[in-house]
Amino acid sequence: MDLRPELKDYYGTDNVYACYQCGTCTGGCPVHRYLPEYNVRQIVKDIIDGEIDLSDKSLWYCTTCYVCYERCPQKVKPIYLVQAATNSAFKKGLAPESIKEMNRIVLKCGRNSEITSIARKQRKALGLPELKDNVSEDYKKIAELTGLSKGL
Ligand code: SF4
Ligand code: SF4
Repeated sequence: MDLRPELKDYYGTDNVYACYQCGTCTGGCPVHRYLPEYNVRQIVKDIIDGEIDLSDKSLWYCTTCYVCYERCPQKVKPIYLVQAATNSAFKKGLAPESIKEMNRIVLKCGRNSEITSIARKQRKALGLPELKDNVSEDYKKIAELTGLSKGL
């Protein structure tokens, strides 16, 4: 997939061609330390080459810690390229099922996990108020405008 035409929408990532593949981003990436298959330098290269694989589930390993953003000597902002790839993958329905499910739950009850019957009983026993499903109108609007619901 060629993402290059879309990059100008991602906070100045049109600087991507300044990347000289030094690997500083990957060297500081905490995900790469534990999961070597996640290589942000390679992701940047694949995007520059116009051939990023949006079905690659490892794209979603990024923790958004911004270490690559801080350390890149060329100000390429690698994290925004990762986000460009995951956003595009999501729109095409290629997000991992766990990501889709979490978003479905947030859209349904306003939290990233559903309230179980056990949790309800425990809260009652402790004298805590009952939790209600509560999706804010603002969130619903954001989901509609960003196309979130369509990618699920
Ligand atoms: S994105 Fe920056 S840190 Fe990463 S390889 Fe390219 S120039 Fe180096
Ligand atoms: S923001 Fe993502 S890609 Fe960048 S260093 Fe952190 S985990 Fe790695």
